[in-house]
Amino acid sequence: ISFNDLELSAPLLQAIEEIGYKTPTEIQVQAIPAILMGRDILGVAQTGTGKTASFTLPLLEILSGSRARARMPRSLILAPTRELALQVAENFQQYGRYTKLTHALLIGGESMTDQKETLNKGVDVLIATPGRLLDLFERGGLLLNQIRALVIDEADRMLDMGFIPDVEKIINLLPTTRQTLLFSATIADEIKTLADKFLFSPLEITI
Ligand code: AMP
Repeated sequence: ISFNDLELSAPLLQAIEEIGYKTPTEIQVQAIPAILMGRDILGVAQTGTGKTASFTLPLLEILSGSRARARMPRSLILAPTRELALQVAENFQQYGRYTKLTHALLIGGESMTDQKETLNKGVDVLIATPGRLLDLFERGGLLLNQIRALVIDEADRMLDMGFIPDVEKIINLLPTTRQTLLFSATIADEIKTLADKFLFSPLEITI
């Protein structure tokens, strides 16, 4: 299987080729077609498996194929730490270099004023840690009603850090008609409960 078999369009294939990926990893082979078909995903995979690209590539594909009326965030990616959110944002930028899609990185320790300014310009994707996302939402001006896809990355670390209540709070602010992708290295009971509550008939992928 090659990236050309995964129904990704030319701008993404071009970026992948330039980055130097030769073949998709196992999780990419399984997740990318399913996400493109609109399915929810429960991905049990560690870092290093290529899981970031397994959700970033199909989200970029979906977003670049549908026009937003005004530029309002249509995908939300939640990560447990600043560092991880930053990595996801870097990947998003790299893979999306030939698309016109934009993102906001909403993490603690950075200026909220700058983040609000970015949001005001209009972005397609939010990449956030849960605490900062809620802070910004509570201050107003963060629109979540056009979010069509939610990614919860490293859910097990969210759990370890006590973020599950914040994650649930955020999910309850989102439209119920959306695609939900949850990734975790392990599936503790709390993660299973979260998945049962918020994922609809997910494809389970264990790497
Ligand atoms: P991740 O599991 O998302 O943290 O990715 C681990 C590393 O694998 C990152 O440095 C990616 O750039 C790299 N990577 C992701 N997909 C591929 C691929 N298909 N071929 C080679 N490297 C990849």
